[in-house]
Amino acid sequence: MASKTLEHFLHENLADLKSKGLYNVIDPLQSANGPVITIAGKELINLSSNNYLGLATDQRLVDAAIAAASKYGVGAGAVRTINGTLDLHVKLEEKLAAFKHTEAAIAYQSGFNCNMAAISAVMDKDDAILSDELNHASIIDGCRLSRAQIIRVNHSDIDDLRAKAKEAKESGKYKKLMVITDGVFSMDGDVAKLPEIVEVAEEFDLITYVDDAHGSGVLGKGAGTVKHFGLSDKIDFQIGTLSKAIGVVGGYVAGRQELIDWLKVRSRPFLFSTSLTPADVAASIAAIDILMNSTELHDKLWDNGHYLKKGLKELGFNIGESETPITPCIIGDEQQTQEFSKRLYEEGVYAKAIVFPTVPKGTGRVRNMPTAAHSKEMLDRALSIYEKVGKEMGILK
Ligand SMILES: *Cc1c(COP(=O)(O)O)cnc(C)c1O
Repeated sequence: MASKTLEHFLHENLADLKSKGLYNVIDPLQSANGPVITIAGKELINLSSNNYLGLATDQRLVDAAIAAASKYGVGAGAVRTINGTLDLHVKLEEKLAAFKHTEAAIAYQSGFNCNMAAISAVMDKDDAILSDELNHASIIDGCRLSRAQIIRVNHSDIDDLRAKAKEAKESGKYKKLMVITDGVFSMDGDVAKLPEIVEVAEEFDLITYVDDAHGSGVLGKGAGTVKHFGLSDKIDFQIGTLSKAIGVVGGYVAGRQELIDWLKVRSRPFLFSTSLTPADVAASIAAIDILMNSTELHDKLWDNGHYLKKGLKELGFNIGESETPITPCIIGDEQQTQEFSKRLYEEGVYAKAIVFPTVPKGTGRVRNMPTAAHSKEMLDRALSIYEKVGKEMGILK
């Protein structure tokens, strides 16, 4: 019999979420997560995936995955430190280091898992972490897991960072200090002020940690935000994911050899969770090869990003201050935002509403993620649906 306490807890809390309209219903896809998707038999232009370069369905990756599965099977069979390290994993890590211009790299099973692993392998209760208030949930959880003091920094506010770094340093309370930030913030598409952050880090001897989940493949001609600013030798931890622009699954840290050596003996998901599957690793290697050899997909992504932004702006929508292809369409009111997204769906566009508490109250938005795989015709169709729904709801004049 189920625990009465649990039953009560679940019932109350689910009812509460549903009454507030915060209960998320998941729509399963009946197709690949490409530029056009099928949900409940309906075809939709997909503006919600992180598959920036369209690599999730790229035939070269699919072929690499199939070949690896045929040779190595579907599972790696063990954790990395027992005998779950295949030559493929080593090759992937060498490739990642070359891609990020660092001495070495270590791969994890996901980006989320990577933040759980890397922060707590280095930081502990005698330390403090200066963390941007808009950092990703996995950074927040990784910081908590380390038991270090978390010092919240106003979003991209360098004066606030400097003041708090100075205070932490001068207090003499902490053995190590770290500054941690997203490279690209995924809700607004703005880029972290890395040159200024590095300056503050040098002034107060901060360990620098940049999670570039949304920047890799997108900025720095594909190599990411750190490369974009020419700071490859100034950032201690370059975090990335293999699940967004790379199109597969997994996460990694790129950095100095000694850092990677340490993570290989001290980061818990590396020691206690089975390694990435052969197919995932082979597909990721193929993706990085593609990125390192050509900027074609990167250029197409930016071209599509500019095209969509220009179109939405010309229609009269508020698209915020994004510096990347991430294109928010800011509606404001939470309920109207939800309704807007629902109407887009009915008309044939899949673009998720993002509202408080994910973003501040009154800044509800529909977030658009154009990819290299979209054609201009698809974007035009999306824009005409935006226009129709915008006018119908009185958002556009
Ligand atoms: C998406 C994301 C992650 C998680 O990556 P996964 O590989 O999907 O687990 C981590 N950090 C940031 C900043 C992200 O945007």
